[in-house]
Amino acid sequence: MTLQEHPLHIEHLFIGGQWTRPRSSDRIRVVSASTEQEIGSVPHASEGDVDAAVAAARVAFEDPSGWSQWEPERRGMALESLADQLEARGEEMAQRVAEQNGMPIAVARQLEAAFPVAVLRYYANLVKSSAVEVSHPHLLGGTTTVRREPVGVVAAIAPWNFPQTLATFKHAPALAAGCCLVLKPSPETVLDSMLFAEAVEASDLPPGVINIVPGGREIGAYLVSHPDIDKVAFTGSTAAGRQIAETCGRLLRPVTLELGGKSAAIVLDDADLDLSVIGEKLFGATLLNNGQTCFLGTRILAPRSRYDEVVDVFAALAKSLPVGDALDPATLIGPMASERQRERVESYIAKGRGDGARLVTGGRRPAHMDKGWFVEPTIFADVDNRQAIAQEEIFGPVLSVIPYSDVDDAVRIANDSDYGLGGTVWSSDPERALAVARRVQTGTIGINTYLPDPSSPFGGVKDSGIGRELGPDAMSNFQHFKSIYS
Ligand code: NAD
Repeated sequence: MTLQEHPLHIEHLFIGGQWTRPRSSDRIRVVSASTEQEIGSVPHASEGDVDAAVAAARVAFEDPSGWSQWEPERRGMALESLADQLEARGEEMAQRVAEQNGMPIAVARQLEAAFPVAVLRYYANLVKSSAVEVSHPHLLGGTTTVRREPVGVVAAIAPWNFPQTLATFKHAPALAAGCCLVLKPSPETVLDSMLFAEAVEASDLPPGVINIVPGGREIGAYLVSHPDIDKVAFTGSTAAGRQIAETCGRLLRPVTLELGGKSAAIVLDDADLDLSVIGEKLFGATLLNNGQTCFLGTRILAPRSRYDEVVDVFAALAKSLPVGDALDPATLIGPMASERQRERVESYIAKGRGDGARLVTGGRRPAHMDKGWFVEPTIFADVDNRQAIAQEEIFGPVLSVIPYSDVDDAVRIANDSDYGLGGTVWSSDPERALAVARRVQTGTIGINTYLPDPSSPFGGVKDSGIGRELGPDAMSNFQHFKSIYS
């Protein structure tokens, strides 16, 4: 049963482990990206609701026999119970995300249902084997014990493009560390956050450990600057990240920022460009989730010796991708998440043309979709890396193919960007690709593939952010280290 058939109108907010009456009558209305029909609504949290959510998290955190004091083993088991509850709701979660933001259902099943469960299970296992205190000889005599303590109440803010996965990147390590959270989803994707609340309620997490405040920028800003928040974990645009960093700088509040990207996909002159071999991987690394993915290699760097061939391959890839309703299992390119997002993408397509780039394929709204915020997969050739479409994050299915003369030139162009989040190198010689990958200024990079690994750090350099999520070290984002000398 789809939300379009049965819109979901939720009356309460999930605060303190209960469904509580909101303090204001404001509501967030959610519209299907594929059909433009209203599919549900939730209460818009007010400042008073945020105060209540932070207070509930504080009470849960300070409980002398509560969550933050539990043995790591017990916390790990509770995380597993949350993973089980989410897994049981996997198909419904994938559908809710797909209907809201237009993510193709096949992608949503993998990346919004299965991936968060895998991340939770990873941290459940990790915390079970993590020591709270480790002692070693004091360098000047005696013993030092280093103790890891949870930082306290965390504000976690997620964007709409991978709402569940990017929330999990925050709550899974924060919970493992013993923190309590107030989670603010993006207004475009609030219905999935309510299903997440149901999973939390049914899990073994004590009341108040996770609280959810649906709202927009203002509520996000209010939460970030709330006096009782100890740490902020944010994923979103670089512009919002700068504002949050300013607030956190003023308050001396620890913050991790996962921001925008404009990564390079470097095609080496020995790359195997047979789409029947690499098509799926190439799609995942450059056009996943309708181009609305932060790590995508949207600047295709092609050797002059094979330039026309690379352009043809990407044009063939773009033309081969079925464009359609996000709930159709055959769809690989769904709509943009919102009308505003489509306007943004279309304005960049116009800018690309105006700046003299050559439109090879796409660039319009697909003729067969008369509803929904669709844009055809679009390939520009003869792009100069200084042009706006090569420097700015478009966040849609638009790729720019940029020529390079030799490997040094490719690395120079790849690094000539304000961003540094993802990227790929394509070559039939893995050692050669690795040597190039090492030279790219970025937080993550793939060789003939790209998929973030829950057990390894993920994040960006330059304007793509500060800090890392995932991997064993991400737990320390949510811990204080205390040295005890004896
Ligand atoms: P956005 O910055 O507009 O919003 C992200 C979230 O922050 C939303 O919940 C929003 O309500 C909230 N917000 C916005 N301004 C705020 C402020 N001043 N204070 C507090 N909260 C605020 O981004 P978006 O359009 O929702 O998401 C797309 C962006 O996210 C893209 O730039 C994309 O690259 C980036 N992103 C980055 C990563 C990563 O891991 N680096 C992953 C996914 C998306």
